[in-house]
Amino acid sequence: MSQPPDPTTLYPQPPFPRQPQDAPGSVHEMNPRPDHGETSYQGTGRLQGRKALITGGDSGIGRAVAIAFAREGADVAINYLPREEEDAREVVQLIEAAGRRAVTLPGDIQDEEFCTQLVTQAVEQLGGLDILVNNAGKQTAQASIQDISTEQFDATFKTNVYALFWITKAALRHLKAGASIINTSSIQAKQPSPKLLDYAPTKAAILAFTEALAQQVAAQGIRVNAVAPGPFWTPLQPSGGQPQDKIETFGSETPMGRPGQPAEIAPLYVFLASSESSYSTGGLFGSTGGLLLG
Ligand code: NAD
Ligand code: MG
Repeated sequence: MSQPPDPTTLYPQPPFPRQPQDAPGSVHEMNPRPDHGETSYQGTGRLQGRKALITGGDSGIGRAVAIAFAREGADVAINYLPREEEDAREVVQLIEAAGRRAVTLPGDIQDEEFCTQLVTQAVEQLGGLDILVNNAGKQTAQASIQDISTEQFDATFKTNVYALFWITKAALRHLKAGASIINTSSIQAKQPSPKLLDYAPTKAAILAFTEALAQQVAAQGIRVNAVAPGPFWTPLQPSGGQPQDKIETFGSETPMGRPGQPAEIAPLYVFLASSESSYSTGGLFGSTGGLLLG
């Protein structure tokens, strides 16, 4: 038996170089390159034959979840913004290399009509739906409430909360007993940062929505859970999610002293999607490098 790796030194630690890019950002512009499990994730058939829709599946946490789901035997549809096509193509190749079907459904989820069509298309092209991962998100740091425009506030709530409501509402018309909905909340739901005054409340809303919906649909055999990432090394952060001085020290505030890599959180989504977690619903599952959710 080989020694288990030390998690504190398993992945890059700060300091990191400043690396501004425009939102929504790309994996290609990140230094160091994030690990989405491309070379490491090994499936064991835990999602054999399942059909999953993942929003924000082109990069970051969504990409790692797409890779893991495919290697566990699921067909995967991913949504992303049209200008993220390059990142999305790589995910398609990885899903197909796992021997599973990949469906691409680019479009802006700030639009209700698109959200409804997204679900219809995913169901049609996958031939059903068992797993919904609401993971797309918008985060724009601002020093003061005075710097947050109504447009920014609106776009953050539309992307993080309204879209999740629209997509979930449409998906529930198709989901059957055994289905699993997983929403990406955040440690920000519990420990809001002063510079994330519009974003943090969306993540608290996602948690409350998860808890309420879980109770509403439990008797139908549909489970709804939320994941709370701490600081993760994804394009969301250098593309405006944090000021650049925070990128240099990103993750240093955690007891582990480094940010998480998307590959480290994907197994949590696999667990919540699979029937192994059949008694877990309405829960909040953290991956925070030691930051407390309480
Ligand atoms: P990411 O940038 O890789 O993924 C976010 C994705 O959201 C983008 O790839 C984009 O496709 C999608 N998106 C944004 N606006 C959209 C729109 N209008 N229409 C369609 N898609 C849109 O970053 P990530 O960190 O992997 O983000 C995934 C989720 O994790 C987000 O909900 C984010 O809030 C959450 N989260 C991230 C962290 C972190 O530190 N990275 C921490 C806590 C929570
Ligand atoms: Mg992206």
